[in-house]
Amino acid sequence: MAEGTTLLLAALDALPDNRLAEDCALPGWSGKHLVAHVALNAEALMNLATWARTGVETPMYSSPTQRDTDIATQAGLPVPELRDRVVETAVALDASLAGLTEQQWHQAIRTRQGREVTGEEIPWMRAREVMVHAVDLNAAVGFDDLPGDFLESLIADIAGKRAGAGLELVATDRDVRWTVAGDTKTEVSGTVAGLAAYLAGRETSDIGRPAPELDAWL
Ligand code: ZN
Repeated sequence: MAEGTTLLLAALDALPDNRLAEDCALPGWSGKHLVAHVALNAEALMNLATWARTGVETPMYSSPTQRDTDIATQAGLPVPELRDRVVETAVALDASLAGLTEQQWHQAIRTRQGREVTGEEIPWMRAREVMVHAVDLNAAVGFDDLPGDFLESLIADIAGKRAGAGLELVATDRDVRWTVAGDTKTEVSGTVAGLAAYLAGRETSDIGRPAPELDAWL
């Protein structure tokens, strides 16, 4: 999570203000939408940290509509303010997680998708956001700049959630493979970075074709 935050903030620092007004890698979003979302995500995860700390149900977002409205509204903020918000909310999330006790880390909470997890899932949820969105900024960061152990965990995570797609993922740069459950079995080979990008529904030239089309994830 800390490594991903550093990577994202460095990528963001290197992007001039005017570039953030342009499209990012996610359909319908500018760079400003993406930065607003990353800041709001930190606040949403702080709600989960509150839930873990108090045991009182505190969802990430009050509703999917509210989540989207907040992103659209905050994307209209001046860029310097967005830059400050993304830093401040990352620091605040760190502080709220640092205060959790052993017992609170094991408190049952629920993600936005309704998955039952414990507080221990929060740093992983945030790591995924900051790492993958560092790439989505269309700055200098690609999937092959992300740490190898993170990429392998990401593939294992998404492979579980894409059950039904029927894929056999074979890495060409490491001796590792993953199976995505399904009736059929299409083999897709590529670098670990390419397979992670593909499975996340991102553009990549680092896998062999043809590979079945996948929707964007996260
Ligand atoms: Zn996200």
